[in-house]
Amino acid sequence: MNSSLLAKWCWRFGSEKDQLWCQVIILKYGNTPSSWYPEQVKTPHGTSLWKSIAAHAHIIFKNSAFKVGVGTNISFWFDVWCGHARLKDSFPSLYKLSRQKKESLATLISLQPSPPSWNLIFSERIEDTGIGHLADLLFSIGAVPPLLSTVDDSRSWKLSPNGTFSVKSTYESLSHPAVSDFPVKFVWNRHIPPKICFFVWSACLNKIPTIDTLRKRGMCIPNCCYLCGRNNESASHLLLHCNYSKEVWNLILPHSGWSWVFPESVEGVAHSWSFLAPHGTGRKIWPFIPFAIMWSTWLERNNRAFNNIAKSPLKVSIDVKALLLSWGWAAFIDFRFRLDHLIFSWDSLFLP
Ligand SMILES: [Zn+2]
Repeated sequence: MNSSLLAKWCWRFGSEKDQLWCQVIILKYGNTPSSWYPEQVKTPHGTSLWKSIAAHAHIIFKNSAFKVGVGTNISFWFDVWCGHARLKDSFPSLYKLSRQKKESLATLISLQPSPPSWNLIFSERIEDTGIGHLADLLFSIGAVPPLLSTVDDSRSWKLSPNGTFSVKSTYESLSHPAVSDFPVKFVWNRHIPPKICFFVWSACLNKIPTIDTLRKRGMCIPNCCYLCGRNNESASHLLLHCNYSKEVWNLILPHSGWSWVFPESVEGVAHSWSFLAPHGTGRKIWPFIPFAIMWSTWLERNNRAFNNIAKSPLKVSIDVKALLLSWGWAAFIDFRFRLDHLIFSWDSLFLP
């Protein structure tokens, strides 16, 4: 497989658009963004070259991200242009109802009347749970569409520091695959409100506005954790290693038969959490626990920072359980617990 050719194919209408190979593919498969995707090609493959390209296209999709420019060469549903997944995969029920499955990002943005707005058309009226999915979709893509420019859309190559594709970086990545990929499935949990998924995703990437991050951005503030008042505040300290946060975790983690060692980073929690799932009726809400703890801890930190209000770890742990209860009720019809069960009989939920 010629990986250089593959990369050029996936860069589509960039600097290669006038080359013969590019013209041939456009003639054969069309020039709408999604028509180039292997899964969208309805005609016979024709040559073994296309089969080879199609078989390896995932390497490009996985290791690159779109930079929105003019928006005409990015498929709204098929390209990863916001978040970490294709909208087609994140919102399958809405994709099914969409009447603009193959449209570009630019087509789905109405520029008039100003300010720009989304122009999403569905084949039938969206009701009940669909409205929730639509709200989640809008949260992901932003209520206000991205600002389009006159610059070409482009891909940025994640494996090179300068964002430019190189055969060498691809070869090295294939020869020495990373021990594990980013835990996308854990972070983007459909039962958790998107803003909280977004928070945990940001925490995994050390991008939440803790003091160390703000200082890196040039803010001149003393670095002292709002919860313990002793250590520097970073995402992993605040959400995992701070004595205060540890106490919250210890109040929530099941006690029987458990010896918990805190991973070094939030991403480490995301990687390991699903392997720790205990038995018992509480198993259903197990994936929600890190979200509830980290979100409640973050709210507590903000309350201390901005409102000068402080709660004890015990009170925060009750907030955590209330969140878990509301998510459990929303996610599972047969989740019949009440808050008093969760407060007074918490450990019994995790007994075999
Ligand atoms: Zn601390």
